[in-house]
Amino acid sequence: NSTTGKYDAVVIGGGPGGYVHAIKLAQLNLKTACIESRGALGGTCLNVGCIPSKSLLNNSHLYHQITHEAKSRGIDINGDINVNIANLQAAKLKAVKGLTGGVEMLLKKNGVDYYKGHGSFVDENTVNVKSIEGKDDVKLTADNITIATGSEPTPFPGIEIDEERIVSSTGALELKEVPKKLAIIGGGIIGLEMASVWSRLGSEVTVIEFQNAIGAGMDSEVAKTTQKLLAKQGLKFKLGTKVTKGVREGESVKIEVENVKSGEVENLDADILLVAIGRRPYTKGLNAEAIGLEQDNKGRLVIDSQFRTKHPHIRVIGDVTFGAMLAHKAEEEGIAAAEYIKHGHGHVNYNVIPSVMYTHPEVAWVGANEEQLKEQGIKYKVGKFPFIANSRAKTNLDTDGFVKFLADAETQRVLGVHIIGPNAGEMIAEGGLALEYGASTEDIARTCHAHPTLSEAFKEAALATFDKPINF
Ligand code: FAD
Repeated sequence: NSTTGKYDAVVIGGGPGGYVHAIKLAQLNLKTACIESRGALGGTCLNVGCIPSKSLLNNSHLYHQITHEAKSRGIDINGDINVNIANLQAAKLKAVKGLTGGVEMLLKKNGVDYYKGHGSFVDENTVNVKSIEGKDDVKLTADNITIATGSEPTPFPGIEIDEERIVSSTGALELKEVPKKLAIIGGGIIGLEMASVWSRLGSEVTVIEFQNAIGAGMDSEVAKTTQKLLAKQGLKFKLGTKVTKGVREGESVKIEVENVKSGEVENLDADILLVAIGRRPYTKGLNAEAIGLEQDNKGRLVIDSQFRTKHPHIRVIGDVTFGAMLAHKAEEEGIAAAEYIKHGHGHVNYNVIPSVMYTHPEVAWVGANEEQLKEQGIKYKVGKFPFIANSRAKTNLDTDGFVKFLADAETQRVLGVHIIGPNAGEMIAEGGLALEYGASTEDIARTCHAHPTLSEAFKEAALATFDKPINF
């Protein structure tokens, strides 16, 4: 006794890709449904990704500042300072709940029908929704169907995640006590953000990375500086090292690692082992096979430049298809795909998608890095400005890092911006704007920036690509 619903568009997945897409479709006057199986909207990002991690990062940073810097900033604290993990987690949950509830309200406000259930293909125009609330199945038919089912942590062969002692990022966000020893496989953004959180709260953290550098995708100069600064904060790094074993033994985890070059084997002990080696597309239970949707060797659903599968009315956006696994990339695709459906055209500029690591200092970049420009044989100039010479950073006693511009050697057109420093994640937006508008570094250097702000370092680094900076 299943019911049916007829829609202009059905969206499977309510993460940043899916919910933004659904709202845009409704705003374009298409009758739209959004199916989400998690029980809350916002996807990985709001529930177990961007938002909870940033809550823990922000509050652990505050704690670290109070315990390590208060005195030098003229604040004497008399009495105990303690972390209350239960309350720290409650503060995180409050942010998550507020935001996921907000998305639900936005869907309602825009007239999107929200189905709490698991979507799977019946045929090319029909999606079955299996309720997570014990209701009858519903069949939705639609002229357009968009898959936005996201991603899940990539498992490490031979290491079993129990989300207690051996955890993925999801478990690492939920720890109920500060582990004495935390080992992390993977020195990418997620691994390093979690490393920062728990190290600030008192864990002894070891990051094990197969490559010889951390921060996959970072400009190598920035990656080296990042590693140095994080090491100064107490993080231990084992680079060029592969994990050969990770097993839970009671309340601890035994880890065996091997130096890639020398073959030397070492045994480590940890209270918690975090596996953070990346994420993979999620299509479980979607029944994509039934309608012959193609997946590449990494499990990504294959699409053309207009997000279309081999069935042109079935589109794919976000983590479950090609490109950077980032919330704002999924959102941009959500908008562009809706515009394709309504108008037949849309656009995402994949060259201008910023990346941010929310450690302290933050690391942010957009456009090309030096290694990429060299590979492409593009002649470029470098302009750098250190935060130690920036008045606001000095005032805030927060001077680690620099801004680095890469500009075309002849035209000074901005090719890439790389920032390690306080507020890098906010400041990188100006770099994105410069790239979108095809600005030259001179355009930026001649734009008045407020004093005293960190963004003056941005302006001076741009200036440094073709002239002398003033304050350094
Ligand atoms: P998701 O957010 O994964 O959403 C997909 C949704 O679809 C899920 O809620 C899932 O339940 C649902 N679903 C799947 N299959 C079905 C089905 N068959 N029926 C119904 N529903 C289904 N990105 C950033 O940009 N900035 C950050 O700071 C950042 N931090 C992160 C930190 C961590 C710890 C993690 C894990 C990720 C982080 N990311 C960050 C990545 C970001 O979360 C993802 O890139 C983003 O969520 C992708 O959006 P999406 O809509 O493609 O997929």
